[in-house]
Amino acid sequence: MFLMRDTKERGGDSAALAVMRAVHDQPGVERASLPAGLGLASGFVAETVARLVAQELLIEGPAARTGGRGRPTTTLHPHPRGPLVITAAIAHETWRLAVVEVGGTEVSRIQHSHERDATQVLTAIEASLRAARRRHGSRVRAIAIAVPGTVSGNKLVQAANLDWHDVDLADLWSHDREPRPILVGNDATFAAVAESRRGVAVGAEAVLHLYMDAGVGGAVIDHGHLVSGAGGTAGEFGHVPFGDPGLRCRCGAYGCWNTTLDGFALSRLLAAPPPRDEVSYMRAVIGRAKQAVNLASEGSRDLYAVTELARSVGRGTAGLVNAFDPDLVTLGGVAAELLEVAEDAMHRAYLAGLMQHRITPPPRIVAAMLGDDAPLIGGAEEAMATVLSDDGLRRWVDRGANRQSL
Ligand SMILES: [Zn+2]
Repeated sequence: MFLMRDTKERGGDSAALAVMRAVHDQPGVERASLPAGLGLASGFVAETVARLVAQELLIEGPAARTGGRGRPTTTLHPHPRGPLVITAAIAHETWRLAVVEVGGTEVSRIQHSHERDATQVLTAIEASLRAARRRHGSRVRAIAIAVPGTVSGNKLVQAANLDWHDVDLADLWSHDREPRPILVGNDATFAAVAESRRGVAVGAEAVLHLYMDAGVGGAVIDHGHLVSGAGGTAGEFGHVPFGDPGLRCRCGAYGCWNTTLDGFALSRLLAAPPPRDEVSYMRAVIGRAKQAVNLASEGSRDLYAVTELARSVGRGTAGLVNAFDPDLVTLGGVAAELLEVAEDAMHRAYLAGLMQHRITPPPRIVAAMLGDDAPLIGGAEEAMATVLSDDGLRRWVDRGANRQSL
């Protein structure tokens, strides 16, 4: 389901597709830079651009500066009536929805908080999708929905922190006359896509992204390809048995990594009652630990407990780095906050768990940069990948022909 493009295979793509992807990656790219960048003759690029302008996919604008020899060149931008995607992200306390054009710019965005009532949330999102469809018509080419749980096909199998089970999200986009792809993905997976396309991991060869809220999920993106597994559920790293084999995880298995680093693990370390909302609870404890660091106060229980979690993240990351051989590790959500508060402890545990040959130098661990927006942005990228494909562009052009014949 998550087919990612591979720049190494660009030779098989059409020139139109190569130009569109260049503009998507870098809106405002100079036309004069494309022949060398894409390995195409400049006359052919000019013809291709003219066709894409006529097809309402691109517009040409004046250059910010003149070309190398002082000759005028133009810049390429998404067409103001060009294709759009809708991306929605359900998080444990909010949901967001954005309409996004080629190049990744948001045309509009809404955000609402919620009380985890599935019917209420899904009804509200469905109404917003319908409104976007009314407003933008067939310019909308694909829809992506990020959810904080395990996804199989278009179904949310389980979202422990929302207490939602077996929700078919394809129902959100029903009664559509046009066949438009709807992609449902795990939020951590979409966040990984976002970081590799628009965030801190742009340019990395292989990225391990870990996203932590009520447990750890994530993805490996290997040379632009998302490692998605046969059923699209790869990346459930929190359920690797790096934890205590005596503890049962909410997934039903024993000894999952999550049992050592979720909100319940934190409350056990603090000898406190189990939290009602574990993500808010974790953020509150981490906030107090941060204060303890800033005030250099000795003997903070919060700092001790948070440091234990950071060690567990470091140790587990080492295991995953040994297995997947990434050149960069990105940490999102609560994991990024642990890195900030207890970087030394995390790093020591990470180095201790790495195979010796990986240590010189070890793959860097960095905080993700897109924050809570990452699942929304990654969804837009995945949806746009279906538009910026040979098939997607063909369907866009056919839509133009159908519209004119009506
Ligand atoms: Zn588990």
